[in-house]
Amino acid sequence: MKPPPFRHHAPRTVDEALGMLADAPRAKVLAGGQSLIPLLNMRLAAPPDLVDINGVAELDTVHCGDEGVRVGALARHARVERSVEAAAVQPLLGRALRHVAHPVIRNRGTVVGSLAHADPAAELPAVLAVLGGTVEAASARGRRTIPAADFFTGPLESALAPGELAVAAFFPAAPPRTGTAFTETARRHGDYALSGVAAVVTLDEDLRVGAARAGYLGIAPAPLVLDLAEAAGPHGDWPAAAAYVRERIDPEPDIHASARYRRHLTGVLTERALATAAAEALRRAR
Ligand code: FAD
Repeated sequence: MKPPPFRHHAPRTVDEALGMLADAPRAKVLAGGQSLIPLLNMRLAAPPDLVDINGVAELDTVHCGDEGVRVGALARHARVERSVEAAAVQPLLGRALRHVAHPVIRNRGTVVGSLAHADPAAELPAVLAVLGGTVEAASARGRRTIPAADFFTGPLESALAPGELAVAAFFPAAPPRTGTAFTETARRHGDYALSGVAAVVTLDEDLRVGAARAGYLGIAPAPLVLDLAEAAGPHGDWPAAAAYVRERIDPEPDIHASARYRRHLTGVLTERALATAAAEALRRAR
C-alpha cells in the first residue's frame, strides 16, 4: 500500500527542524522510517506533515566518554552496534542491538527513533530503562532531559510532547565490578521477542552481589525494571531471583504465546541473563 499524502519538510539544522515542528503541531519526525513508513503504508497513521531529519548532520553523532555513550538522533543502529568505543563504555548496548530486527533494518533505523517509537517489545527501551539512561528533548520552547523511568508512558507512547524532537539518548557507563547480559526468545531471529531481559549485576568489594537489576521487554505495556538484589541475596541465588520475577510479572497472552508460557520463559531468561552478567562482573573484578 502507499502512504496517505503528506507534506515533506527537509531541515538542515536542529533549529530549522524545531521551527518546522512548531509550525506544524501534528507533524511527525521521520528518522530511519523503519517503523513510521510501515505505519503510514498500512494507513495506521496519517500525519499531514513529516519533518525528515535525515539531512541534519549535527544529529549524526556517537560520543563515548567515561560517563557513558551519548547517541545522536541520526545515529543508525548499525553504527552503534559496530562501535568498539561504545562497547568498551557500555557493552549492553551492542549486545541488545544485535537482536533488533535484521541487518538491513539496522542500517537505516536509528537508536533514538526506536526509543521515541516506544514499542514495549523493542530491545532498546528496556536497555535504556535498566541502565537509568535519559533522553534529551528539544522544542522551540527549550530543552529538557527526561529520565527513562518517566519517558516510556505506555505502548507506543512516550513523554515527548507535540513539537518536541528527541535530539539524543544517553546510556550511562558500566560502574566497576559490573557485568551485563542481554537475552531474548523470538519465534525467528529478528522478529520481535516473546520476552527479553537486559541484566546488570554489580559486585561489592568482597565480590558479593551489591546490585542486580533486570529490564524486560515484551511482557508489559512499557519497559519494566525490577530490582533483584534482595531476591538473589549476596551470593547470587539466580533461581530465587527468577522465581521472584515469575511472581511479580503479569504478561498478556497474544497469538504468539500464552501468558503462562511468557511467565515461564521470562523466569528462564532472567536466571540465564543474571548468571551471565554476574560471571562477567567477576571477571572484571579480578
Ligand atoms: P522512524 O520509523 O523514523 O520513527 C518511528 C517513530 O518515532 C515515529 O513516530 C517518529 O515520528 C518517531 N521519531 C523517530 N525519531 C524521532 C526523534 N528523533 N524525535 C522524536 N520522534 C522521533 N525494532 C526493535 O526494537 N526490535 C525488533 O525486533 C524489530 N524488528 C523489526 C522488524 C521489521 C521487519 C521492521 C520493519 C522493523 C523492526 N523494528 C524492530 C523497528 C526498527 O528497529 C526501527 O528502526 C525503530 O523502531 C524506529 O527507528 P527509526 O529510526 O526507523 O524511526
